[in-house]
Amino acid sequence: LKAFRNCSIISHISRNHRFISTLVLAEHEGGSVKASSISALEAAKSLGEDNSVSLLLAGSGPSLQEAAANAASCHPSVSKVLLAESDRFVHPLAEPWARLVHLVQQKHSFSHVITASGSFGKNVLPRVAALLDVSPITDITGIKEPHLFIRPIYAGNAFSTVRFSGSGPCMLTIRSTSFPPPSALASSKSSSTASIDQVDLSSLEEDDAIKKSKYVKISTQDTDRPDLGNARVVVTGGRALKSAENFKMLEKLAERLGAAVGATRAAVDAGFVPNDLQVGQTGKIVAPDLYMAFGVSGAIQHLAGIRDSKVIVAVNKDADAPIFQVADYGLVGDLFDIIPELTEKLPDK
Ligand code: FAD
Repeated sequence: LKAFRNCSIISHISRNHRFISTLVLAEHEGGSVKASSISALEAAKSLGEDNSVSLLLAGSGPSLQEAAANAASCHPSVSKVLLAESDRFVHPLAEPWARLVHLVQQKHSFSHVITASGSFGKNVLPRVAALLDVSPITDITGIKEPHLFIRPIYAGNAFSTVRFSGSGPCMLTIRSTSFPPPSALASSKSSSTASIDQVDLSSLEEDDAIKKSKYVKISTQDTDRPDLGNARVVVTGGRALKSAENFKMLEKLAERLGAAVGATRAAVDAGFVPNDLQVGQTGKIVAPDLYMAFGVSGAIQHLAGIRDSKVIVAVNKDADAPIFQVADYGLVGDLFDIIPELTEKLPDK
């Protein structure tokens, strides 16, 4: 209950901030700001014309410097890059990051704090909100006014409009697929270059809370395939694939299409693929140009993660499978015949 104390459905009267100032918590990789953080900047832009946007980057070494230079010109709405340089932030651990954002917020008093709703944002933002004693509003898909937001409920089957009426900063995680940056942004850099300011971290040195967690290791799959969350084409397999070995068939098809591979929770639970491939309510939300589902029944929890796909293609041997109700193109047939045939007919990349 406490978590929702400051949020109320529409009936509350909003506080109108005359000036909006937003802090975007950004992730970087290989010297560039991640695509999901650019979407968070896009969301910040839609808060209002007079919004002054600062982007917070943390880490150390040359890749941070490179990312800072990239951040300063990655989006026209960035007016300042705040750089927290310390080995403590090389890995995105929630405890030190929460302290960092708390420190930055105390100094700058932003009206809004935004980050993408990935594993980083879901981990960090609620902790900062607790430190500031405000209620975060999560998984925003639309911004109507600076304090009026749209977010999915009931596994994406309905949308609620939520007004923030709290007294602290408005803390938001945004669904990146709902705030795609304009395609022109990808090919051209912003002409304006924001200033880069160092964050004074001296007060964090004695803070025991940031020493509570330590980085052990990260396990990722080495793959040249695009990131599932941002891929233009996604091919997904369900329980019907029956084994990890059979998923290789889907991987071959993905290679031909330059696609990312996804899976249903049933396929993940059966151990066919790791859980970072899960698409749906409790997995990744995707919004590709083309989503191909093989042997996927179309449970509502799965559909919650694919609703924003532009074209959905489904292959299922059951003509009454619910996936056909949302598919733009459906093929009733056996995936063990169709996947190899399709792969063979597609040109080699
Ligand atoms: P099934 O439902 O078993 O469907 C298999 C399909 O394959 C059937 O339609 C069948 O006709 C078809 N088929 C079988 N053999 C073949 C063949 N040879 N060729 C072609 N078609 C074939 N699920 C998710 O996916 N993502 C989530 O994030 C998620 N979150 C959940 C959260 C909660 C709280 C709960 C309760 C459930 C969640 N689920 C999620 C699970 C979800 O309800 C379904 O159980 C799951 O999506 C089913 O996966 P599936 O379609 O692979 O398997």
